[in-house]
Amino acid sequence: MMENLIGEVHRPGRIEVVCGSMFSGKTEELIRRMKRAKFAKQRVEIFKPSIDIRYSEENVVSHDHNAIHSTPIDSSSSILLLADDIDVVGIDEAQFLDDGLIDVCNTLANRGVRVIIAGLDMDYQGHPFGPIPALCAIADEVTKVHAICVKCGALAYVSHRLVKNNKRVLLGEKDEYEPLCRECYQKAIEAEKKQNTK
Ligand SMILES: [Zn+2]
Repeated sequence: MMENLIGEVHRPGRIEVVCGSMFSGKTEELIRRMKRAKFAKQRVEIFKPSIDIRYSEENVVSHDHNAIHSTPIDSSSSILLLADDIDVVGIDEAQFLDDGLIDVCNTLANRGVRVIIAGLDMDYQGHPFGPIPALCAIADEVTKVHAICVKCGALAYVSHRLVKNNKRVLLGEKDEYEPLCRECYQKAIEAEKKQNTK
């Protein structure tokens, strides 16, 4: 375990991105890394956009209810004000934050802070989502996690929306979204098009 200890304690400032579709375990991976940092006596803090209040205002709660305390923020600039004296900054659901997050993460990492970002890489139509693509570009390390396609069991790549709503941001869970692989997503979209032209 020596290698892990060195990994947690002596890492200089860095940016890590954990991205993927819904139900891919992004938040669980963020929480796992934050808990390990805490064990290593690092000062940790998680931020998340205040828009995401599906479960609890104050906690980052993943789908398996493995909660860790967090601070809701309205703007990425709040992180710089609130993250003084923090060794490891976690940011959950970062796709909902503004593009200022890119500079904020660079500033933190340059100060020696380890920044761990979790977020959706694509929206429900498969388009790059918010600041996540740019964060992947500036990150020292990118981890892409996958859900399982509910139709065929392959690795899913997108969160397909089950309800009719064209708003880009629609907070939801298993009633509103399903993880699909590329092939099953194409089939679902074709079927929807046919239905709409009937
Ligand atoms: Zn599939």
